[in-house]
Amino acid sequence: MASAPRDAKKLVRSPSGLRMVPQHQDCSSPFGLEEPQWVPDKECPRCMQCETKFDFITRKHHCRRCGKCFCDRCCSKKVALPRMCFVDPVRQCADCALVSQKEAEFYDKQLKVLTNGATFFVTLGTSEKSEVMVCRLSNNQRSLFLDGDHHYEIEIAQISTVQILTEGLTPGEKDIPTYTSLLGSQHITEGGNSRASGMLLQYKAPGAEGMTQVRFTPHDDSNSTKKLSATWLAAMYKAAKLLYESRDQ
Ligand SMILES: [Zn+2]
Ligand SMILES: [Zn+2]
Repeated sequence: MASAPRDAKKLVRSPSGLRMVPQHQDCSSPFGLEEPQWVPDKECPRCMQCETKFDFITRKHHCRRCGKCFCDRCCSKKVALPRMCFVDPVRQCADCALVSQKEAEFYDKQLKVLTNGATFFVTLGTSEKSEVMVCRLSNNQRSLFLDGDHHYEIEIAQISTVQILTEGLTPGEKDIPTYTSLLGSQHITEGGNSRASGMLLQYKAPGAEGMTQVRFTPHDDSNSTKKLSATWLAAMYKAAKLLYESRDQ
């Protein structure tokens, strides 16, 4: 486990604002995004949204999320952008503000669900045996900790696939569990007509040749633990989306 100084953070000032970043690059969040390059001033004589010409009165502003150039009206919202480690809300264009506001829900709610953890039957590799384990995301967001009789750590950066098992809950329809690929379009929502009921992870374990597979099945000794597990899986689904986006940048 990383010691306190390794997880230490420092304040840096960028043209976009103050950022609180990890001292060590390898401690950065796997959900993080790089700051965009700003479109150079000379390449944008007009607002890239409403096409108003910039002049002495109509000043240009750069969106901190996409780096494009806008007039004040099209780039007036200041929204939190934790994925770029900004300390304060930063100026964003309308499209980016919308995306960032949706992500705020992940940071406000789902991230807490993930770090609080939930209980699952965990099956490692091709083993027939499963173990009851509490699974939680580490506070620095870089690992999944699995605790039962054993302790396992799965580095988020080493995860290659996340698949969520869903159960159809539409009345009259048979419950057919299917693994939904992360990048598939099916949504998992709490109280919707499908519910997350399991997860399959593939990751590269240190020193291992190929991929290791881990299967998570809710530990359903009571309805409330089952609900908590489903909520945790739905949060994991959202986390995986952000993770893929971070890797794609
Ligand atoms: Zn404009
Ligand atoms: Zn933008």
